[in-house]
Amino acid sequence: MIVAVDGPAASGKGTIARAIARRFDLPHLDTGLLYRAVGLNLLRWGGDPESEFSALRACDFSQMDFADAELKSEAVGGIASRISVYPMVRQALVERQRQFAGQPGGAVLDGRDIGTVIAPDADAKLFVTARPEVRAQRRYEELKRFGLDVHLADVLLDIQARDERDRNRATAPLRPAADAELIDTSEMGVEAAAAQAIAVIERRLHVSI
Ligand code: C5P
Repeated sequence: MIVAVDGPAASGKGTIARAIARRFDLPHLDTGLLYRAVGLNLLRWGGDPESEFSALRACDFSQMDFADAELKSEAVGGIASRISVYPMVRQALVERQRQFAGQPGGAVLDGRDIGTVIAPDADAKLFVTARPEVRAQRRYEELKRFGLDVHLADVLLDIQARDERDRNRATAPLRPAADAELIDTSEMGVEAAAAQAIAVIERRLHVSI
């Protein structure tokens, strides 16, 4: 069973995808980490995020430690969002994601284009959203917990800029697949949203584990 979970930054899609993976005992891939790995490579090499060729070179991340905390930083997220508009970068990362999705038994993948591009035949597709102000508040609290000195207004601006780039890029823009189930987490906790997502999948698949 392949489950595609897409949505904008800080919508709760990662937490939901992990809960689904646990529930159905499936491997999970946070595909944002791949784009972040390219961004971090570029940052470390001093490459130019404005250059598609430079970003393509950074796609060789065989040496990357995916447990590196810097991958989760706002700076790396910002570069990831900029280099993810390049078709050559997206193409370089497609195969790895499709292989993960196609492994025996299936998988859960979360990202921006899983249901539309990476796994259009996924058995279940979810599109997780929340109002930008709610997502900014969540991201702000998360960054504060990490001890970072951030301002809510800046976090909101950053989220809006990322939304804009992700939705309006020419290649694989962020949008719900036609057959995706929409889950709005603005008014509910992520735990409740995860329970709703699992119920949706069980209903779709007519399974009850
Ligand atoms: O999900 P996360 O915030 O870690 O992703 C970082 C950036 O990578 C996103 O802002 C988005 O631009 C890009 N991305 C993408 N396609 C994916 C996953 C992430 O374009 N499937």
